[in-house]
Amino acid sequence: MEMIQRPKGTRDLLPYESYKWQFVERKLAKVLEDYGFKEIRLPVFEYTELFQRGVGETTDVVQKEMYTFDDKGGRSITLRPEGTAGTVRAYLENGMSSKPSPSKVYYNMGMYRYENVQKGRLREFHQIGVELLGSQSYLADVDTILVGKSIFDTLNIPNISLNINSIGCQKCRGEYQKILKEFIGKNLDKYCDTCKTRFDKNPLRILDCKEKRCKELNVGAPMMIDYLCEECKTHFENVKSALTAVKVDYTIDSSIVRGLDYYTKTVFEFVDEKTGLTVLGGGRYDGLVEEIGGPHTPAVGFAMGVERLMEMFEETNNTEVQEKVPDLYIVSCGNKENIKAIEIAESLRNQGVYVEKDIMERSFNAQLKYADKINSKNLLVIGENELSTNKAKIKNMATGEEQETELLASSIVKLIK
Ligand code: ATP
Ligand code: MG
Repeated sequence: MEMIQRPKGTRDLLPYESYKWQFVERKLAKVLEDYGFKEIRLPVFEYTELFQRGVGETTDVVQKEMYTFDDKGGRSITLRPEGTAGTVRAYLENGMSSKPSPSKVYYNMGMYRYENVQKGRLREFHQIGVELLGSQSYLADVDTILVGKSIFDTLNIPNISLNINSIGCQKCRGEYQKILKEFIGKNLDKYCDTCKTRFDKNPLRILDCKEKRCKELNVGAPMMIDYLCEECKTHFENVKSALTAVKVDYTIDSSIVRGLDYYTKTVFEFVDEKTGLTVLGGGRYDGLVEEIGGPHTPAVGFAMGVERLMEMFEETNNTEVQEKVPDLYIVSCGNKENIKAIEIAESLRNQGVYVEKDIMERSFNAQLKYADKINSKNLLVIGENELSTNKAKIKNMATGEEQETELLASSIVKLIK
């Protein structure tokens, strides 16, 4: 029979790789929790309309990338392509807004986008993200950026740079859009088809196009930061001064546009300097909660691609994290010995010791070989002799040193911890 392969753009995380992900996930959960973010878990699928409204009709995600289908009841369903819309839906639906502000949540979830598969671009990928709802202050933007920075610092990932921008608010963006349209309009026929469709609805997104010719045409475009209203300007100045004051380096990059009507003010990205890929992208979205049907609620957040993060992590930290090896391997042959091995193994495992033992009914020698192969730290042999005297030896596999012990979990545990 022909083998069935995994769908294009998905990957398997194998048992001898997952420990690296677990290491990173644990570290990051700790960082996020130290900043006061609590985990939220959301459905893999939502009604399509949530993303149409919450991500926006003019984005790549909604225009080209969603996994959308009708369920058996005829409802249009979409696999979540990102986490913010679902978070805001859950925030409103569960009355989280009636709790003291701000609400601070993080998520670590699989995301689904029908993308052109290439390096750093999968169809199923994972994002760790944070959303901070209820604060309009620049201090919330600063904290959000600092959590992002902390993530890379905690994992000792170098060669990462922070780029920031402000995309203003609905008030000041109007005038800017006019000026930007004048600039783009001169060459509109030379832009790609997607850009053309965005010209009327959302010209800012044209600045975000990844087509080479569009990028070239965009050189010298007027910049939003030159057209900010007083409020947005002050907000951005405050963010910049705070970052400078706490010694966080950043570059202003006017090509960062989240480009949706409800994204406002600060936007930022952490970029892998080697590949040029954005690992983490975020910003303020003061208009989104209203768009999803809630009361006006200012908010800021980010999402980070975990696969891209892991790639950077593995490049720089490949020796720091080790796969867990057994604290003890128990060798036993014969029924009585095997039962003793079970008893001791169970008792040690209940005390938090990682114990491996034979479950293949291998020969004595084969078990010794296996214990060596799986790099067990210690070895305990239970033979006829050990059973009758109730004494045994623990061998440290690294040093070869042997220690006498009673054949009792309480004695053994002291020698291997
Ligand atoms: P891009 O401009 O690269 O397409 P995006 O704007 O679609 O990125 P976001 O929606 O802001 O990206 O997602 C945040 C992060 O999630 C990205 O910076 C990246 O690290 C990760 N990410 C996004 N799409 C993918 C994907 N298809 N495969 C792997 N990681 C992804
Ligand atoms: Mg994309």
